[in-house]
Amino acid sequence: PHRPYIVGNWKMNGSRAMLSEARAIDRAAGRYPDVQVALAPPFTLIGALREAVTAMGVGGQDCHVNAKGAHTGDVSAPMLVDTGADFVIVGHSERRKDHGESDAVIRAKAEAALAAGLGIIVCVGETLDERDAGKAEAVVSGQVDGSLPQGDAAAEAVAGGKVAVAYEPVWAIGTGRVAEVADVVAMHAAIRERLLALYGEAGAKVRILYGGSVNAGNAADLLAAEGVGGALVGGASLTAEAFLPIVAAAG
Ligand code: 13P
Repeated sequence: PHRPYIVGNWKMNGSRAMLSEARAIDRAAGRYPDVQVALAPPFTLIGALREAVTAMGVGGQDCHVNAKGAHTGDVSAPMLVDTGADFVIVGHSERRKDHGESDAVIRAKAEAALAAGLGIIVCVGETLDERDAGKAEAVVSGQVDGSLPQGDAAAEAVAGGKVAVAYEPVWAIGTGRVAEVADVVAMHAAIRERLLALYGEAGAKVRILYGGSVNAGNAADLLAAEGVGGALVGGASLTAEAFLPIVAAAG
């Protein structure tokens, strides 16, 4: 039903020398019109990447809750728009952990991004302790309830397909340890239930991506799984060679 959405999150990696990888990814993305492809480079590369590519989306990895002001080192959603971004990732587990971001802060960032006209990818995911304690679904459901945007602008963005959720189990990120397909299917179903509760029928329009050690070898199985609307890819998005097989698996 949804066009698959394959997003590369470069995290704190990348330099101008890597724009050639982005160009190669972009050229190939043009050959998969049924797949929506995007990259989220660090802030420093958004403008240059926007100029370098034509077929793919370009996004930020975070934004501030405010549009402007005395917040040294921070970047706002309108600034992301100004530099050429069309979406932003909010609530990544690395932001939650490294910067102590709460669900409430993430919701405020999501709402600020929508107000600026950006699409959003809101990240959720349990830790290994939480999964081992049998609390994975409760934790993730709580994150969805607490971090997804609320209000009229959110309802409009959801209906317009501008809101995505990424399920990224923390223990699967950068570890090479991918979640079991059955667990991914179960969690995506639990997330969908919360989205329908939050947004009514329009909640069906939110794409739910899987993230955590996605690579060329496991992408086809994950992307074919019930309820998986795409992938949020870290390490394997840094080169065209690693990323393009994932795009191809979605096409
Ligand atoms: P890896 O693909 O490197 O595990 O990272 C996943 C991730 O955190 C994407 O946001």
